[in-house]
Amino acid sequence: MPSSAQTAESTVWPEGVIARYVTVAGATADIKAIGIDRQTSVGTITDITITAYCQGCRQKDVSTYLGMDTSTLGDDFFTSSLCDDARKWAQSHAEKCRAMPRPTA
Ligand SMILES: [Zn+2]
Repeated sequence: MPSSAQTAESTVWPEGVIARYVTVAGATADIKAIGIDRQTSVGTITDITITAYCQGCRQKDVSTYLGMDTSTLGDDFFTSSLCDDARKWAQSHAEKCRAMPRPTA
């Protein structure tokens, strides 16, 4: 296996970000997923919070799923039904949001 097969990302995504949309103004809307495991008598369950956040206008859409069994979610969490709302929000938001992030400098 050639070790040079890895592709370099042009920018480093913040921790927890699983998808990034570019808005019409050139800002980014990020989808972030955080899972917190809990031990119960029936095994480990996970509380999942999915946040879609626009860096331009700082609007966000938050979905919370409590007590999930992550073994049923499949390999690609982003394509699972749990991310449906966040995907739809980020996609439609990116198509119309014209806010730019405030320069930090
Ligand atoms: Zn926005």
